[in-house]
Amino acid sequence: MANKLLIIEDEPDLRELLSFTLSREGYDVMEAETAETALQMLDSKLPDLAIVDWMLPGMDGIELVKRLRRDDVTEDLPIIMLTARGEEPDKLKSFDVGIDDYITKPFSPRELLARIKALLKRSGTPENNVLESNGIQLDLNSHRVTINGQEIHTGPTEYRLLELLVRNPDRVFNRNQLLDRVWGRGVYVEERTVDVHILRLRKLLKPFGLDRAVQTVRSVGYRFSPSE
Ligand code: CA
Repeated sequence: MANKLLIIEDEPDLRELLSFTLSREGYDVMEAETAETALQMLDSKLPDLAIVDWMLPGMDGIELVKRLRRDDVTEDLPIIMLTARGEEPDKLKSFDVGIDDYITKPFSPRELLARIKALLKRSGTPENNVLESNGIQLDLNSHRVTINGQEIHTGPTEYRLLELLVRNPDRVFNRNQLLDRVWGRGVYVEERTVDVHILRLRKLLKPFGLDRAVQTVRSVGYRFSPSE
């Protein structure tokens, strides 16, 4: 699976150009023309990176970023903001609200691509699409998992759980955050379902002595601790 990018841009010509350019580079592109539409899309599908135009009809880009940062699911979604020329003081303000990078219009698609690649790399999305930790390798394209070179067969939920944990070493997730990110928001699943799948994941990791890396954090949730 290719990296998913969400473009939020109200100018149809620019949106189309970006979409065309980025698709041609092999990205899986989602498009929204307003912040409101983007929020709806984000409820069901989380991209790897968002490109947000500042000036949008209705909710503007800054307000959208503020909202995304307040939300458990999107608080660390990598964001590049598109700004117009001559907004230097404002640009600084946009870093305050939590964007990761910005690019000034007009820009070359090549420059944007370079920034997307750099940001994906900084945010832990490997360029070759293989995540690795403690001998665990997750191929993000094929969803194959190997440990010390040996393939293990995970269910789709265990795969997503493992991917999230390996991407965020030592970070504690509560059950609700895991439900939102692994099962998707708006899907009704009981919290104890999380425990069931954590158990299955540990069972898969046990032959390699890695079950202990998936730790229970009492009365909070779970964390992946690669040092264990
Ligand atoms: Ca605009």
